[in-house]
Amino acid sequence: MARHRPPTRNSQLDALFACPLIHDMAADIGTLGTHPRRHPVAFHLAFGAMVRLFGSGNRLDAELAHQETWDRVVEAYNKGAALHPAGVEVAPTAPPLLSDTHRHVRNRLTRDEYLEDLLDSFTRHSVGIAQEVGLLRPDGPGSRTYPHPSRTIYGDGTVVRPMYGKADHGRQDPDAEEHARHDGLIYGNDLVAIAARGPESGRRVILAVGRVQERGHEGDEAIRLIRMVHAIAGDGIQAVVYDGAFRGVHHETVMTEFGLVVVNKVHAATRDENSRSHRKIPLGQWTHTVRNRPCVHTLVICNGAVHDSTLDDSGRLVLSDALVRKQVRRYARGHGNGWRFTLGVTVPCPREPFTAWISPHRQTGDRGRGRPDQMRLIPEVDPYFQTLYGLRNDSESINSGYKRTLIVDRAAVLGWRRQVVDLMSWGILINTAAWKQHGASSEA
Ligand SMILES: [Zn+2]
Repeated sequence: MARHRPPTRNSQLDALFACPLIHDMAADIGTLGTHPRRHPVAFHLAFGAMVRLFGSGNRLDAELAHQETWDRVVEAYNKGAALHPAGVEVAPTAPPLLSDTHRHVRNRLTRDEYLEDLLDSFTRHSVGIAQEVGLLRPDGPGSRTYPHPSRTIYGDGTVVRPMYGKADHGRQDPDAEEHARHDGLIYGNDLVAIAARGPESGRRVILAVGRVQERGHEGDEAIRLIRMVHAIAGDGIQAVVYDGAFRGVHHETVMTEFGLVVVNKVHAATRDENSRSHRKIPLGQWTHTVRNRPCVHTLVICNGAVHDSTLDDSGRLVLSDALVRKQVRRYARGHGNGWRFTLGVTVPCPREPFTAWISPHRQTGDRGRGRPDQMRLIPEVDPYFQTLYGLRNDSESINSGYKRTLIVDRAAVLGWRRQVVDLMSWGILINTAAWKQHGASSEA
């Protein structure tokens, strides 16, 4: 693999101002219901992203206090604005924007009447950038059986610690609360990001950001964000990778409502330090005819995969190796009622191998979280699983990449609304850098 040079601050600024993203979003959200400003809304969006690039509003203020730096930023910004049909330029006589002034605009953006439109606009145009850099292309590679990594979206939640700890009386973040994560109990706001990426470094696009509204319901927020991305990208997406926050109900929604394959491990029934053990879920009997006689197989799910089974001499259930996947098929249910999947596996019957077709959906009579919680269209044992599940590691580097821009790992702002906008601002940096480095226009 080629050695990766991380983009310099200047090249990130170039990308931020050259990419249409800030102007596209500003055109969507309008003037925020006030008089024309000295600094256009698109410039405020860029400012929010620059705060993440410089680490804090104070540091950015100090940089922009140099007239030369300010002039260079305005020149780069205006060049991009002039190329955009909805671009609004900064007057050459305008004084430097300071974070104190920017805060008023940011607070407006976080109001109910704007926040949803802002995040929606970010998603819409970020999906556009993803497609420009060759991701989520409806005409791209891959299939239902082998979804392509470039058409797979993935995500994770991360708890951002508030600016002040619980002990700092009187200055607490009103929205922070304790979150039980796999890595322990953390106090803060649980933020979720959905992304797509290519194999090269820097070809990564943040598609949607949000906040877990109800403690312990990260899966629900992830579904809400995936729904937003899917509404724009449609069949450009083939699969979704998510971690343990998904349970049966989330799998069922992703399959039936969005028509997408979920790549996710199965929750273990028991887990100690060294091993996970999984429940065995009977699927029922499949009968095929060999030389005019019926031959019956009892299929069982274990750790997401389908197994053939037999009973040993003492009546105990013995599973075959996981059956090899042959094909994943998807059917429209008609009248806009979503999708049904079916998985074909090869049953290697010694008399005559055959294909068994199995529904991964919830069954009548399912108890508990049901079949979608336990069965996978691409189980962990499948050689293709890791190709897609490996994207999950990038979720963790998204979280740590964002947190590296925060001072001592603490939220830069108070309250979940500002934190979501702050994470989105970091996303603007990442997406514009991807556009510059990997977009069609970068080849010109
Ligand atoms: Zn048989």
